[in-house]
Amino acid sequence: MTYFSYHTHTHYCDGKAEAEAFVKRAIELQMKAVGFSSHAPFPVEVSWNMHENQLKNYVNEINSLKKKFSEKLDIYLSLEIDYIPGVTKPFDQIKKECGLDYMIGSVHLIKSPVKNKYLFLDGPDTNYTHGLECFYHGDIKKMVRDYFYQVNEMILEQKPDVIGHIDKIKMNNKGRYFSENEKWYQNLLEESIDLIKETDSIVEINTRGLYTKKSPAFYPDMNFAKICQKHKIPMTISTDAHHPDELLLYFDEAAIMLKESGYDSIRIYDKGRWREEAI
Ligand SMILES: [Zn+2]
Ligand SMILES: [Zn+2]
Repeated sequence: MTYFSYHTHTHYCDGKAEAEAFVKRAIELQMKAVGFSSHAPFPVEVSWNMHENQLKNYVNEINSLKKKFSEKLDIYLSLEIDYIPGVTKPFDQIKKECGLDYMIGSVHLIKSPVKNKYLFLDGPDTNYTHGLECFYHGDIKKMVRDYFYQVNEMILEQKPDVIGHIDKIKMNNKGRYFSENEKWYQNLLEESIDLIKETDSIVEINTRGLYTKKSPAFYPDMNFAKICQKHKIPMTISTDAHHPDELLLYFDEAAIMLKESGYDSIRIYDKGRWREEAI
């Protein structure tokens, strides 16, 4: 098995260690590659992304680690870029300005129907329940639709290499507001998959929800992976590590799930391009 982590967060955003600590741990674990993907800066005040004035240092630090450890590990420079329509910069521009190897596109903040109000769907449950009541008057279907429409728009307009935790909206649902088996929800998943089919984007199986115990399943789970397989959507595995000890948590389990969904290979990033690698 080829082990890698293209989705990792350091001290530059909400990660819990320096980039070099991840590199050293990755070498110990005999991993092939580590890609750094701090939360990109954007003009909405949140506690978990990188500040604009740190971006240059981040780029320089990762680039110098690339050189320092070039004999031992493939190191990549990336960002997990939020997409908020009309607010965030075009992904291409960020990629060019920073010289990124690849881009992960994610939606953490839903642009709500209330002007300049964003629903933070990650983190504590209270953000979700408060947003659902205050911005959506409890209309969960509208909120979930707004989330997937924003993801779809990101896929079509920003063309990220990797789509971050595509169904993260389920995290704080905890079985309270809807069942993922309901037809309207399944239709939204299928709609997104139909769009991804038209692009080169890769869907990641994000394992973080399982090891932080915030989700009983991967983002996305086996049901979604099976539909992706039917449509030949390329997949990769992300642990979304925020600490070096998380670099490979549930990686093997995600690979097994993909195999059971019918995949016999996943996408890896190798010498400047994405290619299929057997699992
Ligand atoms: Zn994320
Ligand atoms: Zn992340």
